[in-house]
Amino acid sequence: MDGAGLGFAEAPKSWHVVEFKTHGDKSFRTLESNGVQKAKPEHWAQVTLYMGWSGIDRTFYLGVNKNTDELYSERIELDRAAFAQLENKAQRIVTSPAPLERINESPDFFVCKMCPAAALCHSSTSIKINCRTCLHATPELDGVARWSCALHKRDLSQAEQMKGCQGHRLIPALLTWATPIDGSAEANWVQYKTHAGTEFTNGGKDGYSSVELSAGADVAKAIDSPAVQALRAAFPGSNMTFTPRAAIPDSEVPY
Ligand code: SF4
Repeated sequence: MDGAGLGFAEAPKSWHVVEFKTHGDKSFRTLESNGVQKAKPEHWAQVTLYMGWSGIDRTFYLGVNKNTDELYSERIELDRAAFAQLENKAQRIVTSPAPLERINESPDFFVCKMCPAAALCHSSTSIKINCRTCLHATPELDGVARWSCALHKRDLSQAEQMKGCQGHRLIPALLTWATPIDGSAEANWVQYKTHAGTEFTNGGKDGYSSVELSAGADVAKAIDSPAVQALRAAFPGSNMTFTPRAAIPDSEVPY
């Protein structure tokens, strides 16, 4: 939070969370008319969480109009029911086994156009291969931002999470152009069917690596192409090399 303060006229002896926000003129006018909760629910949620977590039960919110330097101030009291709901929402997001429902199905929707995750969310074209996109990784709710790996059966350091390893298998929901139909935890493969009906595996003998499957928008077309499949059968080279090299030794990884 931006700060904690004492000495506000309405309750001089009570600690307040202090939050400062800048606004464009239109946003500032809406804030003046409707107050923080209605005009900027995301700011209201932010200070509600700050209050709940800090144990301070009120906030002094100060908005500034970037165009005119006018100020708007408001005191906000902690809504404990809303705090509990926001915490539950955060937990649902953190523990969701698949990407959340899209805010809109069209990548041209104005919010989607401004979102840095739009390509990943709408077309599976910018999947980064690290533990966060691997079906073996779990965010654990105890400890401090603890993640574990079911394949290696241990916790992962942050450096390991960012690197991933050769045992990486994509979270199935990330491949929007295919449907998972089978899998083997023991042999570490997942079988899929493309929308055109071609079956393939992520991992396993003759399967595709996660690196290959995340190579771009045309992967589905290549997998569906008889010519590409014939080439692959005749020249079974593949991009199994994982870059950067994983912190977890490849010898620990079942293929
Ligand atoms: S260490 Fe490897 S197998 Fe484990 S979660 Fe990360 S990428 Fe997946």
